[in-house]
Amino acid sequence: MSRITHSTPSRSDDSLRLDAVSRVYGTGEGSVTALNNVSLSLPAGTFVAVMGPSGSGKSTLLQCAAGLDRPSSGRVFVDGQEMAKGSEAKLTRFRRKRIGFIFQHFNLLPMLTVEQNVTLPLRLSGRKPDRRRAHAVLDRVGLGGRLGHLPSELSGGQQQRVAIARALLTEPRVVFADEPTGALDTRSARDVLALLQECVRVHGQSVVMVTHDPVAASYADSVLFLADGELVGRMERPTAEAVAERMTHLGDEVARRRVTAGA
Ligand code: ADP
Ligand code: MG
Repeated sequence: MSRITHSTPSRSDDSLRLDAVSRVYGTGEGSVTALNNVSLSLPAGTFVAVMGPSGSGKSTLLQCAAGLDRPSSGRVFVDGQEMAKGSEAKLTRFRRKRIGFIFQHFNLLPMLTVEQNVTLPLRLSGRKPDRRRAHAVLDRVGLGGRLGHLPSELSGGQQQRVAIARALLTEPRVVFADEPTGALDTRSARDVLALLQECVRVHGQSVVMVTHDPVAASYADSVLFLADGELVGRMERPTAEAVAERMTHLGDEVARRRVTAGA
């Protein structure tokens, strides 16, 4: 089961670890602290949801953890390896090898077929597109019969499953998803959530998913709550009802914190 700690024990089997990660946008008076000193560690095979009010830093957390953005301070470890510092190319290589990312609006290339979209990351990293593996992973998401289709010929749910296949092709240790069901109907959302669960239960990957939806969060093993860029709580074995209740109180807590801080 998931064990998420706010402290930072050095566990070698952590799939993800953040040590005092902060992200400040801008400088001086107008600067915004989107993430404030966030530490967490996720053992391999963990499905965690990240929730919090709009603007609480969820996307920033995901992007810093996934190497799509660089923290202003602090360190990120994926699969025991510290996130590459230095050149953009180094960071990109690091990301391609260890991390999968799923976006709310799929981010498929409209001119490429399903198969070409899925193999694109391999081709971009100079590797031969392994078509057999692409077909296997498309089978896994139920789209083995759609290899030659364009994204525009698919439903939203199908497009998101293509994006999942693309994220899984390199067998990343951690899959990040920012509101992956935000643009989907209930049934497609359930398919996507079941696939993410399968990553964890069957393939031992870890999934970190931002969501607004308590029902989506209930598919995770645990939920982390963010407010004003800080981790303010967590819930193990969440139910949709318990998450919804906690979110209601989180709004009140944030308002109280701001009044106390004079904001
Ligand atoms: P969430 O995903 O929880 O809605 P974000 O991580 O997108 O929150 O944003 C957290 C805070 O950082 C917000 O106050 C937002 O306005 C600010 N922010 C996010 N991205 C940028 C940026 N590129 N430049 C300046 N401020 C940003
Ligand atoms: Mg966001």
